[in-house]
Amino acid sequence: MKILYPFAKRFIAGEDRQTALKNIKSLYDQGFLCTVDVLGESIHTEEQAAEAKREYLALLKAIETFQRPVDISAKVSALGMNIRYDLCKQNVEELMAAVGHHTVRFDMEGSDLTERTMKLGLELQKTYKNLGVVLQAYLYRTADDIQSVIQQGISTRLCKGAYKEPEGIAYQSMDEIRENFYTQACRLLKEGNLPAIATHDEILIVRLVEFIEKERIAHDSFYFELLYGMRRDLQQTLLDKGYQVRIYVPYGKAWLPYTLRRLAERKENIIFVVKNLVLETLGLGKLFKS
Ligand SMILES: Cc1cc2nc3c(=O)[nH]c(=O)nc-3n(C[C@H](O)[C@H](O)[C@H](O)COP(=O)(O)OP(=O)(O)OC[C@H]3O[C@@H](n4cnc5c(N)ncnc54)[C@H](O)[C@@H]3O)c2cc1C
Repeated sequence: MKILYPFAKRFIAGEDRQTALKNIKSLYDQGFLCTVDVLGESIHTEEQAAEAKREYLALLKAIETFQRPVDISAKVSALGMNIRYDLCKQNVEELMAAVGHHTVRFDMEGSDLTERTMKLGLELQKTYKNLGVVLQAYLYRTADDIQSVIQQGISTRLCKGAYKEPEGIAYQSMDEIRENFYTQACRLLKEGNLPAIATHDEILIVRLVEFIEKERIAHDSFYFELLYGMRRDLQQTLLDKGYQVRIYVPYGKAWLPYTLRRLAERKENIIFVVKNLVLETLGLGKLFKS
């Protein structure tokens, strides 16, 4: 999978914490906020879950003195959910004990984990206020989940959803996903606690900006959230317009599953990888570096 690394590098802030922190500091200096993800998911042993937890704890230690808030994105599957619910819960509680004024947020994974992720989020947020969740606009159940997060005041990121889900539980067409995203985002913007609108879709962003301005929603009551290395022009435009913009910054050695999801989202990305593969195979990489 070495061939994917030139592509992966666009989307990850480094393979180690020190490199990632340098990039994160630079983003804060430019006026952005960050949500930081330690790459890794679907681990199989308790030791791997403990390893993920140790890296998160080291990250929290490293940002302890950061004045501005940092969002930490964590996957429950990396913290042991597929081994035992209670193991994952215990690991998350250790992170919450070290979170300080920052936030830990559960990324949302495939639908086999949705129910357990929401259960753990709703349960733990009663004790740990700085715990947030993510909801996916492609899932039918999200309309109900939005009601729960609004009722409990849980900070929520809304995204379209990055996994392949069956028709029985998820919208399949982009128009339907976009429409549900808009509806649920409006609910969060009006009634939610510090929601994040996580998309690069300009059609949606333009409609939501109109809603925000028409409804006079305070700019410090929500975030736009975009992925590291993606649509930097849009990230800057939103910042220049006076919105809070948070960048999702992943780092670590386990970059493959994350990279494959980014690859699958766009045919241009597949072309980029194939082009590199051809250049490397023909030994032309150095001549045509872009
Ligand atoms: C901050 C953030 C956090 C996320 N967290 C989660 C999560 O926890 N769980 C989850 O399931 N999904 C998550 N996602 C991924 C999300 O669900 C979508 O898969 C992804 O954002 C693409 O959808 P889009 O809304 O950006 O719109 P799209 O319509 O897919 O894309 C709009 C435009 O964005 C650009 N773009 C989109 N994808 C790519 C790409 N791969 N490479 C280059 N350009 C691209 C293109 O210009 C494209 O035209 C997250 C996304 C963001 C932005």
